[in-house]
Amino acid sequence: MGIIDRIRARMRTKFININPHNCVACWKCMEACPKNVLGKIEFLGHRHVRISNGAACIGCKKCVRTCPEGCIRANE
Ligand code: SF4
Ligand code: SF4
Repeated sequence: MGIIDRIRARMRTKFININPHNCVACWKCMEACPKNVLGKIEFLGHRHVRISNGAACIGCKKCVRTCPEGCIRANE
């Protein structure tokens, strides 16, 4: 897997994609996800959600419904 694919894999699963721009690091999406697909980036002041185990995503979209900032969307 090339670096672009690796970066992409942190931001999307087969079912959903994350735009971390407006993420306020409330972690509500992580709490909502039944499959522990989501994880945290906490690095030099950057705090936002990422995909930590995309293969486990079942497409339930609980994360999409839970995010108060609209950062997570169903793939088209
Ligand atoms: S769609 Fe469901 S399983 Fe996939 S990341 Fe969101 S909450 Fe988790
Ligand atoms: S629920 Fe939304 S704002 Fe909160 S951590 Fe998840 S993506 Fe970020």
